[in-house]
Amino acid sequence: MKVQPEEEQRIVAAIEAAERVTSGEVRVHLNSTCSGDALKDAQKAFRNLGMHRTAERNGILFYLALESHKFAVLGDQGIHDRVGQSFWDGIRDAMVPELRAGRWVEAMEFGIAEAGRALAEHFPHQGTRDRDELSNEVSRR
Ligand code: CA
Ligand code: CA
Repeated sequence: MKVQPEEEQRIVAAIEAAERVTSGEVRVHLNSTCSGDALKDAQKAFRNLGMHRTAERNGILFYLALESHKFAVLGDQGIHDRVGQSFWDGIRDAMVPELRAGRWVEAMEFGIAEAGRALAEHFPHQGTRDRDELSNEVSRR
């Protein structure tokens, strides 16, 4: 499945907007297929992307296998401890209807905004001291 440059740009813009108000980091990883468990693949991608290395352990990863229609969202220990599993479940449940309808970019934009709100609440932006610890580019495999 082909991802259009403008689709990718919309996702990057959503990540940038989210990170403007938080020290937390959001990434999106797109796979074409996923044969097994999406959460396991997402955890693997999380590590491969070095997302466990943020200072406050507040990275959030959205994982989507476009052709397999599999999806997972997970956060590092710092943010997970504050929001709990129900938060990830809530984001997922809210995104599923859009994903099912094929509106995956809209689903991502919504999820990223929700993740950004939670991050901003627990990890406010640090002004000039804030660093972009993880690239905002969409990761592809
Ligand atoms: Ca940051
Ligand atoms: Ca970033």
